Amino acid sequence: PLFGNPWIFIRGVPSMQFLPPEGPAEVAFAGRSNVGKSSLINALTGQRGLARTSNTPGRTQELNYFVPDGFSGEGADLPPMALVDMPGYGYAQAPKAQVDAWTKLVFDYLRGRATLKRVYVLIDSRHGLKKNDEEVLALLDKAAVSYQVVLTKTDKIKAGAVPHLMADTQARILKRPAAFPEVIATSSEKNEGLDALRDAILTAIAR
Ligand code: GDP
Repeated sequence: PLFGNPWIFIRGVPSMQFLPPEGPAEVAFAGRSNVGKSSLINALTGQRGLARTSNTPGRTQELNYFVPDGFSGEGADLPPMALVDMPGYGYAQAPKAQVDAWTKLVFDYLRGRATLKRVYVLIDSRHGLKKNDEEVLALLDKAAVSYQVVLTKTDKIKAGAVPHLMADTQARILKRPAAFPEVIATSSEKNEGLDALRDAILTAIAR
């Protein structure tokens, strides 16, 4: 039912003091800009326009919170969970100050958020794990936050190459302390792997 119903954007968080009070279990999505993060959040929730909010200028450096609609957010009427769209990383031309601000916001959030159950790290199937992805995985290991790798845009590579890429990616994260070993392959375009990801999210928030 969580994923069958409408979701809404509730808040953009530019720094820690603007985080919503801890309550619902959260899962967050991270990835290089253009990895397909907005498309995946839209596909997961079945709402085309939902994550566009996060891609509008001004919102790109914020943690964007989405919750299932129909909960006041007060008292006993808290939403059952929240999805958090983390700002994209890896812009080639990003000034150092911006990279530093990203790292600070993200690390503060990762370290300080008890209700954060898992981070889904999105990797473009065509590119695989890049150096800045590995840096983010290292940050997650350091913060001891459970994370799982999700391959995006699998429709852009040959179908036969997907199992190989999954196995290769899995092998590369095997020794990482906070990594969940199973890699999920998705295509928002072809609606593939979405049920596997929804199941993984529901399992993660039930922990
Ligand atoms: P974000 O910057 O990570 O939020 O990425 P977007 O969701 O905006 O996607 C970046 C580009 O990749 C857009 O042109 C999307 O249409 C395209 N894209 C996203 N997901 C897929 C997918 O599963 N398959 C294909 N072929 N293209 C995708």
